[in-house]
Amino acid sequence: MTARRDEIAIIGAGLAGCLAACFLARRGYPVVLYERRSDPRTGTAERGRSINLALSERGLDALRRIGLAEQVMTDALPMRGRMIHPVEGEQQFQSYSAAGDRAINSISRGALNNALLDEAAALPGVRVVFDHRLVGLDPTDGTLGFETPHGPVAANASVVLGADGAGSAVRGQLRGYGLLDESVDFLDYGYKELTIPPLGGDFALDPDALHIWPRGTSMMIALPNRDRSFTCTLFWPNDGAGSFASLTGPAEIEQHFATHYPDVVPLTPNLVDDYQHNPVGVLGTVRCTPWQANGRIGLLGDAAHAIVPFYGQGANCAFEDVVELDRCLDECADDWSTALPLFQRRRQENAEAIATMALTNFVEMRDRVASPVFQTRRRVEHA
Ligand code: FAD
Repeated sequence: MTARRDEIAIIGAGLAGCLAACFLARRGYPVVLYERRSDPRTGTAERGRSINLALSERGLDALRRIGLAEQVMTDALPMRGRMIHPVEGEQQFQSYSAAGDRAINSISRGALNNALLDEAAALPGVRVVFDHRLVGLDPTDGTLGFETPHGPVAANASVVLGADGAGSAVRGQLRGYGLLDESVDFLDYGYKELTIPPLGGDFALDPDALHIWPRGTSMMIALPNRDRSFTCTLFWPNDGAGSFASLTGPAEIEQHFATHYPDVVPLTPNLVDDYQHNPVGVLGTVRCTPWQANGRIGLLGDAAHAIVPFYGQGANCAFEDVVELDRCLDECADDWSTALPLFQRRRQENAEAIATMALTNFVEMRDRVASPVFQTRRRVEHA
């Protein structure tokens, strides 16, 4: 490892930011990781924002390169296929591979983030600064402005990487300077988390599968957790009849679930409370270009290309970004002004492809109605 003088500021200590800090510190860079939140390892998770992720081979490859895959996998649960829940009749298992030997892995986003944060913070050269929200960025000289609980703070860096998620402040700053074009397409669907707790100390559903309740205009999925619970994510339109907003009272909520998700009702003792109090999250696709400015400010992960979650690839893609950026730095002898444009050329087409596939997969998942049971039921629902 060669010690390098260029100080790198990474904005956002999420999945992409922490992984990037690990890779760059290993290249010998001093790295400061700025995060708007307090240290997530010392706080409690926000209600209804637990999100467990499907971590696939693409993401695991990145973790292997920093020696973290084995540790992370001890917290993961392999899901070997999807289990379709019709309104009536038997559940149907669809294996992800013909031999049944391939799996995607259910893992808590919080646990994964904390493992990456621990790894980054333990590396020499990495400093993690919490409670710093980026609010200003001068793309010509790398001056950074933060809001903190103690007032405004200024800092500076040779290279700034925006890993600050779908609503990226770094991207917003570049747009404000006229250095970038962006489009953000919000889906008219949102999502809400519900919980299926353990039943008699065990999993209430098969833990080897990603569970799907396809219902045409709505859809629910559930992924297993280490504590033998499942986190369900209900996707539904934001407005109108047949939307989150259309169910208010406990009786309506119970009636709706009894009609459309009858097998879920006995497994969700906190259904009404979860439904009434967990927030509705927004979903959207971010496209922007270029992903860099002046050869010293770059974007990666959701900040560059947030996608809807229906292919389970947003975090996996963010991890792939970091591996590719590292490769570009190798090939460009750490000249950031050539490495950042090369990174964009290599990744943008892939990001665009997965964005489209994720939107297509939403239709596939919610309308997975090949079985006659589904078709009959949907006609009845709409009658
Ligand atoms: P984030 O994880 O959003 O991290 C950004 C970080 O930047 C955060 O820590 C934030 O606090 C910080 N930050 C933001 N603004 C500022 C600021 N101004 N100053 C300082 N810090 C700031 N992906 C998968 O691969 N598989 C899945 O199964 C999957 N399921 C999903 C399900 C749902 C319901 C959703 C919503 C997403 C899912 N994703 C999944 C996508 C995945 O969560 C994201 O792609 C991933 O978290 C992106 O990582 P990131 O580090 O780029 O951004």
